[in-house]
Amino acid sequence: MIHFTHDIDWINPAHVFAWIKCISQHKYWVNPRHLLNKNLFVNNIANVCKINESNQINATWFIGAQHQNQYKRFGLRYTVHDKLYQNIIELLAQYNADVGLHSVKYESIQNQLQLLQTYYKKTITKHRSHYLKYNHKTLSEDLAQTTIKTDFTLGSARQITLAPSNNNLGIRQTPTVLFDNVFFFKNPDLIFQELKSTLDLAASKKQEVAICFHPENFLILPEMQAHYQRVILLAKEYPTLF
Ligand SMILES: [Zn+2]
Repeated sequence: MIHFTHDIDWINPAHVFAWIKCISQHKYWVNPRHLLNKNLFVNNIANVCKINESNQINATWFIGAQHQNQYKRFGLRYTVHDKLYQNIIELLAQYNADVGLHSVKYESIQNQLQLLQTYYKKTITKHRSHYLKYNHKTLSEDLAQTTIKTDFTLGSARQITLAPSNNNLGIRQTPTVLFDNVFFFKNPDLIFQELKSTLDLAASKKQEVAICFHPENFLILPEMQAHYQRVILLAKEYPTLF
């Protein structure tokens, strides 16, 4: 199977880091004028839900769950207490979306999972670490103590690759072969060439894989939606995986 996944990294355009990125990473970030719209990210996530629906894609949405903002470099930029968090939860529930935990490494996974389940009111069985940052020694052990069955953390945000997976302590690892960030710095035709050969390899091994598009990147790169549609078309060429 090819899992279409989305990491929810941004909910609140008024978050201080959203404004810092206008200066520090302006080439890879939304137009500051757009940040004035407090529903920017919520509306955009709704838009991606609609795109998935029209393509009959049942995507998995990875969302974090923390009580407090941690202003760390690889921190999550929202908490469960943000009013907009509730809006996102309601939106995902409305689409009966498949939801996974997007965990941060500085809090216990068990606690984050419990908190997410309190809000989403469903048992959560999927997981991906935020920024792919995690404790290599303990991740499988930590996940094995929860209801998580599949982890999507394996992969590279910079390379299209089929990372070798091994199932550890009953946790199935589903490697992510493509992160949309590559479209910021690599030729799209080259990306699709590499994606095709990676999917060929996955199909020959009957290996389930994932593809990750961050919703905010649809706002940043005007061509991102077209790239996403092209990935969906390509994925449909793999009936054994799709
Ligand atoms: Zn993330």
